[in-house]
Amino acid sequence: MTSPPAWTNADLHCHSCVSDGTLEPEALAARARANGVELWALTDHDEIGGQRRARDAAHALGLPYLAGTEISVSFAGLTVHIVGLGFDMDNEALRCGLETTRGGRTERAREMAAGLAQVGVHGTFEGALKYAGNPELIARTHFARYLVETGVCANTNDVFRKYLVEGKPGFVPHRWAQLGEAVRWITQAGGMAVIAHPGRYKFTANEEYALFTEFKTHGGLGVEVVTGSHTSADFLKYADMAIEFDLLASRGSDFHSPDESRIDLGTLPALPARLSPVWEALRERVSLPQ
Ligand code: AMP
Ligand code: MN
Ligand code: MN
Ligand code: MN
Repeated sequence: MTSPPAWTNADLHCHSCVSDGTLEPEALAARARANGVELWALTDHDEIGGQRRARDAAHALGLPYLAGTEISVSFAGLTVHIVGLGFDMDNEALRCGLETTRGGRTERAREMAAGLAQVGVHGTFEGALKYAGNPELIARTHFARYLVETGVCANTNDVFRKYLVEGKPGFVPHRWAQLGEAVRWITQAGGMAVIAHPGRYKFTANEEYALFTEFKTHGGLGVEVVTGSHTSADFLKYADMAIEFDLLASRGSDFHSPDESRIDLGTLPALPARLSPVWEALRERVSLPQ
């Protein structure tokens, strides 16, 4: 058997309506294919319910697929996202872990709505729920869409400046999974844990160093370097950190919606050549079309 070609245009981070994206997994697969993506992963927040649909749709289009998810973690008082890639979709411990992580979302959403009502913005629980393709997974994104629809804010960026973030109405602190748990669920299911968009967290240099160090201690192996959430300065900074911490590098658009996302699937710059891509180490976990 000949080995598959080297992939350059890998897009290993995006969301469907199974979490807080607006497109069905099949529509995302088609968009990835049309944009020239050569290896794709759907990484819904705290949920793998869309994985089979994504894989089957990818295969029908001749597109190699890696299982994916993005787990919400609490670390040093902030929320961190850990992407899991190439795991076994049937792994029971991972399924249970994700279910537990999703568990508090509805109660949290009710508290968010109560906070918004206190500043005169009413009906947001029902409003957000209307946008949630998966009722188990109400995210701040769904509130943001409702606040834009009702004219409270001009766009979703505006929402995340005025509401739903620490110190602003509608913010509810939440306990997500622990870093070690998330890394273990992914790794024990045969996958690789990757720190998502590190440039987005408001950590001090010391806290960020602690995140990378602890992540490695727990068995984490990768970090997103080229992502839709990073500036080009971040690409350089996290390329250096990947080398300093001996981590494999990942690339993903974090695409959510044609109307909201700045970066489309498959359109980011390539990973810097000095880095080792996560997908080289995950070759055996890639499912190839028949
Ligand atoms: P949650 O998991 O409910 O806390 O929602 C987090 C989601 O909100 C992220 O995955 C993004 O999709 C979205 N989000 C967070 N911050 C922003 C922002 N500044 N601009 C746009 N979307 C954001
Ligand atoms: Mn999201
Ligand atoms: Mn994220
Ligand atoms: Mn994401």
